[in-house]
Amino acid sequence: MKSLVLAEKPSVAREIARVLQCNIKNKGFMEGPKYVVTWALGHLVTLAEPEDYDRKYKEWRMEDLPMLPDQLKLKVIRQTSQQYQVVTRLMKRADIGELVIATDAGREGELVARWIMKLGDWHKPFKRLWISSQTVAAILEGFAKGLAAGPYAEAARKLLASPLKPTKRLVDDSKVSDHHAIIPTEQPLKLAELTSDEKSLYDLIARRFLAVLSPPYRYDQLTVIAGIQGEKFYARGKVLKDPGWRAVTSHQSDQEENQEDALPEQTLANLNQGEARTVKNLKPQKGKTKPPARYTEATLLTAMENPGKFIEDEELRETMKGSGLGTPATRAEIIEKLLHTSYIERSGKELVPTSKGRQLINLVAPELRSPELTAQWEQALTDIARGKGSKTAFIQGIREQTVHLVKSIAQDNSVYRADNISRTKCPVCGKYMLLVNGKRGKMLVCQDRSCGHRQPEKERDFNFGSSKKASQMNQKLIARYSDHQNIGSNMGDLLKEAMAKQKEEK
Ligand SMILES: [Zn+2]
Repeated sequence: MKSLVLAEKPSVAREIARVLQCNIKNKGFMEGPKYVVTWALGHLVTLAEPEDYDRKYKEWRMEDLPMLPDQLKLKVIRQTSQQYQVVTRLMKRADIGELVIATDAGREGELVARWIMKLGDWHKPFKRLWISSQTVAAILEGFAKGLAAGPYAEAARKLLASPLKPTKRLVDDSKVSDHHAIIPTEQPLKLAELTSDEKSLYDLIARRFLAVLSPPYRYDQLTVIAGIQGEKFYARGKVLKDPGWRAVTSHQSDQEENQEDALPEQTLANLNQGEARTVKNLKPQKGKTKPPARYTEATLLTAMENPGKFIEDEELRETMKGSGLGTPATRAEIIEKLLHTSYIERSGKELVPTSKGRQLINLVAPELRSPELTAQWEQALTDIARGKGSKTAFIQGIREQTVHLVKSIAQDNSVYRADNISRTKCPVCGKYMLLVNGKRGKMLVCQDRSCGHRQPEKERDFNFGSSKKASQMNQKLIARYSDHQNIGSNMGDLLKEAMAKQKEEK
């Protein structure tokens, strides 16, 4: 009997197949004497849409909300149905005796496999692939050896002088989940084959990796209280003992971490208590306190990663550690969506809420505004994972909360008022358009989102003679002025795109 190994990404499947000697390549899977390895790219199975339960749910009417079917149905995702067929055909093979779940080792990855098993009617035994923690040190050493060439040789050799001891800070088995860090692989480095962008990016990743494995940066924290004619003056700074990881990443600055502090950080010479010094000069400096800076895309992403600090309840704050709003893969998309739906807009590098966004926050139920709800759910899910909480009770709670929220929204009679309606009618559907700040100046956007027409404000007198012409123009303008051309693409795709462009230009 053979075992069927289900990975998430084809690249992971190929790696597993190589190790398990599955050398026969087929469409959608690899086969060897003992194992068959396949993948679930695109997740293959998803929850059914409202209209799959009842045709009447195709349109959302207030009296049908909330839609809460007793049993949630699953369905095959159309775009990846071919791979789903491959997987289920393998599941039905008589010579396949067990399944090894090798999807990403987190909640989502596990669910991907469980849904496929449910819809594919899998009843034979199954196991979960969990990479052994004993090999972590060996793997890290392998990576460090891979780096022992070129500009990283010195730092890597220093590291390899003593055996690497992965600390809990570096690898924490209790928290290993699906989205792990970006690290260099064991592949030897061919610097000459990289473009300058690739080199810079590789350098960043390699240095950070070496830094993480390096000894701590050691310093004495020094606070100087100087008395000058009865007045006390304070200074704070560091006296360097051992540069540690800082020797590898010289670019990292303290300033970011200490922005909020009243006293600037500085390197001080070693001073002794009671020492007398001569004051050479004194310079008074005027200053004002500043309100917190507005979010930029970068600082917002960081805040989404660690929403815990916005939670007052200490216990809840603790549970939010390590879990953010969204996942690394979806956070940037969430911001793009808020921009595209005009809840926020760009002002230079800053992100500013629009009137629409501010009104939404006032209209929405208070519990949906705070990361506390996410924290409570995280806590409940963690409890369930550890066998301390009840799945049924959690789902029941979600159902009750949904009913309660929808009811309170239905009873609320506050209204949304668009205060940016322009006097220009949409050339496509005739409704008045809204004035919004786009990436390249003021834009007129049709208030009907299903119409979606948008045009620059300055071209409001544009001659849209026929609706056909208007629609063609519309397509062009959407392409030209859209904030949104890259919705759904991740950092990796953007990077690839940028590199491809650079190659073209050469
Ligand atoms: Zn329109």
